[in-house]
Amino acid sequence: MSESNGTRPIKGELLHEGKAKRVFKTDHSDRYIQEFKNDATAFDGTKKGTIEGKGSVNCQVSTRMFRLLESKGVKTHFVDILSDNEMSILPVKIIKVEVVVRNIAAGSLVKVRGFKEGTKLDPTIVEWYLKDDSLHDPLLNDDHIHALGLANSHELANLKKDALKINGILSEFFASIGINLVDFKLEFGRRPDGKIILADEISPDTCRLWDRETGNKLDKDRFRFDLGNVEDAYQEILKRTSAIR
Ligand code: UDP
Repeated sequence: MSESNGTRPIKGELLHEGKAKRVFKTDHSDRYIQEFKNDATAFDGTKKGTIEGKGSVNCQVSTRMFRLLESKGVKTHFVDILSDNEMSILPVKIIKVEVVVRNIAAGSLVKVRGFKEGTKLDPTIVEWYLKDDSLHDPLLNDDHIHALGLANSHELANLKKDALKINGILSEFFASIGINLVDFKLEFGRRPDGKIILADEISPDTCRLWDRETGNKLDKDRFRFDLGNVEDAYQEILKRTSAIR
């Protein structure tokens, strides 16, 4: 979908401000605008900083990923890119479940679940986390999600199916630009008619991306763990993902 000049939505009231994005209402009832910030946080917001150019990279990379997914039949909230750090999106009610997909062991899998970093995972692991910083985003199982009323079993089965389909598409694309898609986080939302579509963003903030040759980390872990060259890593992902156009 793209907005022609005549229908380009005009930014209205701020609806929600998160750690890395703002969402605005617009003059169109069926459009929001999502604006990407340079602000960076980690470890439940206890580490704070700024990554120059991040908002622009994440908006453009997300645009490319959403377009790729749409071209393969995945329904997303993406409508159009409006500026280097703003996109128009379809309004959804975010489901408070963060869906994490893992191909290679890293992060919390190493820290608390006994995996060795870099181990290829078979099967691919799909996990659910409660989207609630005040509770430190705890891991949930299916029964927790049903009992919390966040999603029913049919919806959860579809979320897992969609997450694995998205993983297949993204892993193949990243491999083609010399990157291993190690793991990533997705968020889904409900449209007014109840349909569930992919929302949020797909960017170096929400994915672990390792160079296939050097093993170099090209994602937010450079910020989380003070690895240096943070901005360069984001720019490298912007550059390589341009292969999609
Ligand atoms: N992730 C995210 N937002 C979160 C938690 C995780 O985008 O609130 C992403 C993270 O960037 C990584 C994947 O989900 O690509 C798995 O994260 P993990 O559980 O290893 O947690 P971490 O060690 O990053 O806190």
